Amino acid sequence: MPEICLLGTGGMLPLKNRFLTSLFVEYHGKAVLIDCGEGTQVAFAQHEKKLSRIEMILITHGHADHVTGLPGLLLSLGNCSRTQPLDIYYPRYWERVIRNLLSVCDCLPFPVNLHSLEEQPCSWTAGQIDPMLKISAMPVDHNIPCMGYSLTLRKKPVFHPEQAKALEIPVQYWKMLHKGESVTLPDGRVILPEQVTGDSRKPVKITYITDSRPLTEMIAFAQDSDLFICEGMYGSPDKKQSMNQKGHMLMQDACQIASQAGVKTLWLTHYSPAETEPEACQDELKAIFPAVVVSKDGEYLNL
Ligand SMILES: [Zn+2]
Ligand SMILES: [Zn+2]
Repeated sequence: MPEICLLGTGGMLPLKNRFLTSLFVEYHGKAVLIDCGEGTQVAFAQHEKKLSRIEMILITHGHADHVTGLPGLLLSLGNCSRTQPLDIYYPRYWERVIRNLLSVCDCLPFPVNLHSLEEQPCSWTAGQIDPMLKISAMPVDHNIPCMGYSLTLRKKPVFHPEQAKALEIPVQYWKMLHKGESVTLPDGRVILPEQVTGDSRKPVKITYITDSRPLTEMIAFAQDSDLFICEGMYGSPDKKQSMNQKGHMLMQDACQIASQAGVKTLWLTHYSPAETEPEACQDELKAIFPAVVVSKDGEYLNL
């Protein structure tokens, strides 16, 4: 099952007790990293996560608190003698910023594949991590192009060996059937996967949105997520107007979206450095959405 660690919970700048917002999702020893602000590789060490597991980096946008950790992180990966490719996805608008950051990392011993995303909803299969993992992106409403991401991991249905034995299917065909492929046996019989598997299981879904005003489209995007990670710069409603001007949202906005989207758990993140006690408004937030967690750095979940 995927293991999720929120490496930091800060926005704008790293503090001595709060790294910048970045999410690490590991599945079977391969990981996706979302955002990489200054100090992200230090947060990896702090939370005992392995840089070498990263296969893919998703960047929401090119503001410094989301990207300036990239060169250091890539150079460290190079120092670990990495040779396998690394994929980086980001909104096309930020192409120059990403390339400039990478220009600091001369002679990396591994290829970096850059994928720029148009400012429209899109999705793709993350085969380098798992063929059952789909990643979706949607443009959000910051003052400058920014994407939210959703990771959906389909689960194979339960395999019933007793049914396979009853049908006298040789063991070497079981794996293919469990993967959802039909097989033709040497005796000419065609076996369908549903003859030996149970009902399909609900996928695991993780949605990550930061640096945006609240948007109606976020409700469908985060719908039924097991975990929704969303920014909440402040917990004081009197900051609403300023957040709206700056292209951000309040903790209360995130709770409203989580409630309407029917997510299981909401982790708040990307607190303003001026928000020194984000947990102070926990009770008020729970009245809007009871499964809200005012996250701290290192918040961890195994789904
Ligand atoms: Zn930010
Ligand atoms: Zn921003």
